[in-house]
Amino acid sequence: MARVAVSPEISVWIAGRIAGFPSEAPKQLRWEESYVAEFSALPLHLGWFETIAIRPDGEIVRWSTEGEYPGVRPVEDRFYWLPALVDGSRRYTELAVLLPQRPAGAVDCLSCRPVFGEPGIICGDCLNLGWVVPGDE
Ligand SMILES: [Zn+2]
Repeated sequence: MARVAVSPEISVWIAGRIAGFPSEAPKQLRWEESYVAEFSALPLHLGWFETIAIRPDGEIVRWSTEGEYPGVRPVEDRFYWLPALVDGSRRYTELAVLLPQRPAGAVDCLSCRPVFGEPGIICGDCLNLGWVVPGDE
């Protein structure tokens, strides 16, 4: 399973957003309220069939919003959890500290420039971070 390192402050902050979700979340996300409460996780990315979310301890989980499976499943693949974290950190800027830091040698990702920021599209080169390290696969 994927787990990102969270500071005690961020952990408390995530727990607070989970607790406050029914009143704080944007209205178009409130239908996720029962999932958030049941699974104790804050939605990062809302896909067509699944939601990817983060727990206060930094664990990244997913659940089906189409009843395809009960409960939560782990998100193993960086290809899924990292873009979800990028997505979530646009909505919750406090989470941006959890993203990989852009190293000194990084350059802007040219592959996704036309689509960067469009929901649901994952750039296979930078995983939506918007930068790549030359020579790094
Ligand atoms: Zn890219």
